Amino acid sequence: MSKSWQDENVGAEPVAAGRDTGSDSGDSGSGGSDGGDSGGGGASGSGGGGSGFRGRKVTTCSFCGKTSREVGPMVEGPSEVYICSNCVDLCQNIFKQERRRVSSISSALQEIPSPREIVEFMSEYVIGQELAKRSLSVAVHTHYKRLLHAESDDANNIELDKSNILLIGPTGSGKTLLARTMARMLKVPFAIGDATTLTEAGYVGEDVENLLLKLLQAADFDVEAAQRGIIYIDEVDKVGKTSSNVSITRDVSGEGVQQSLLKMLEGTVANVPPQGGRKHPEQQYIQFDTRNVLFICGGTFVGLEEIIRRRVGQTRIGFAGLSTDGAGEKVQQIKREELLAQVTNEDVVEYGMIPELVGRLPVITPLMPLPNTALVKILTEPKNALIRQYQHMFGLEGAKLTFTDDALDEIAALAAKRATGARALRAVMEEIMLNLTFDLPDLDNEGVEYVIDAAAVRNKPKLEQLRVKRANSA
Ligand code: ADP
Repeated sequence: MSKSWQDENVGAEPVAAGRDTGSDSGDSGSGGSDGGDSGGGGASGSGGGGSGFRGRKVTTCSFCGKTSREVGPMVEGPSEVYICSNCVDLCQNIFKQERRRVSSISSALQEIPSPREIVEFMSEYVIGQELAKRSLSVAVHTHYKRLLHAESDDANNIELDKSNILLIGPTGSGKTLLARTMARMLKVPFAIGDATTLTEAGYVGEDVENLLLKLLQAADFDVEAAQRGIIYIDEVDKVGKTSSNVSITRDVSGEGVQQSLLKMLEGTVANVPPQGGRKHPEQQYIQFDTRNVLFICGGTFVGLEEIIRRRVGQTRIGFAGLSTDGAGEKVQQIKREELLAQVTNEDVVEYGMIPELVGRLPVITPLMPLPNTALVKILTEPKNALIRQYQHMFGLEGAKLTFTDDALDEIAALAAKRATGARALRAVMEEIMLNLTFDLPDLDNEGVEYVIDAAAVRNKPKLEQLRVKRANSA
């Protein structure tokens, strides 16, 4: 048996080691050091009798350490290196997987949508904020284009210029939502952090590296994928310098946090503790290169428009007087928007951010407070709009839920009063819907429609009182 594969092998693969050495004296000479020769002869002697064994060399696979007696013929490389067929198979699989991984990375990146496509996608989830959508889409498109370029060409020749983004806008205007939607569209890992919880290394609080850990977790610890992800850091305005008039609680460490953020933003190889928490010396770290991570920072920057007003007021005659003309709230609003649209790096620096950090956030985009009309749209239009969610829930019980237009206006007005932007919508809706949803399963809902109008929003009646028989179900 063993003789026959040996013979076949000689014919088919002349380079195979462990072969019949009869005609290859040079090889047998070099194999002399392989002291297993004679032993091999003894073992395989059973196969072909005395004449079958002619000084066959037993080789050892340099990769798995098994001998040719265990695993069959091997391929020989220079300087007494051998590899068995099992290890060749294994290597082939490794190569195949690697090729698949690389091609999936580049194909994922090749499908970078155009800015227009990005805006269209975002509009399915985010209402208004057209200016922000536009500049965000361009920045993100360019960032991933550059990344792709750097991967396909000679990366050494290309200096990857990161276009991290700073979103400035009031609470609940959609900053986080924009960043999250962006990551969803690009199918890249996404993590959210809060700058106020970050501290300099050594202080009690969260290390900046924990943000990277969150991203790794979102990528299932696929480091390659995580290194191309998006991190949203909220409330960066709250870590201003001492001179800033915003924060009185964060004085000492504020600038230090900005410094550590700066390092991460400009690209560094950070050591991320896989379990999170405090670093300690014995721990194994994951090396995380932040060069290609896209950072989106967000902050409310309360009072920033004053800084802008002062600046443009000085350079543009007549503009400064605008804010004192005492016109209605709407005019004030428009003025604030006009001012915010002119925000520059310098304004943000004056606000209290360190210039180096602002320099690493080349795209600065204001988001506008959402007017009531936008709040109504947010209630009804996005794919996962609140109203749709409640309607779906009622539908599961066999009932139909309808909101009248004036009810929607009323909900928006109630939410606007809370001054937390669209975030208040959920709270207002829950207050209206809590008892109704509680009672819903107790009633006979087949063919029933419930209608909520403005009065119902204000007075919160019981579910039975909102009940309307469907015309076609009588
Ligand atoms: P922030 O600007 O404070 O980061 P978020 O993005 O977290 O605000 O918004 C809070 C919630 O309000 C979101 O989950 C979303 O449901 C809603 N929301 C805010 N802005 C918008 C918007 N422009 N379009 C749709 N929904 C919005």
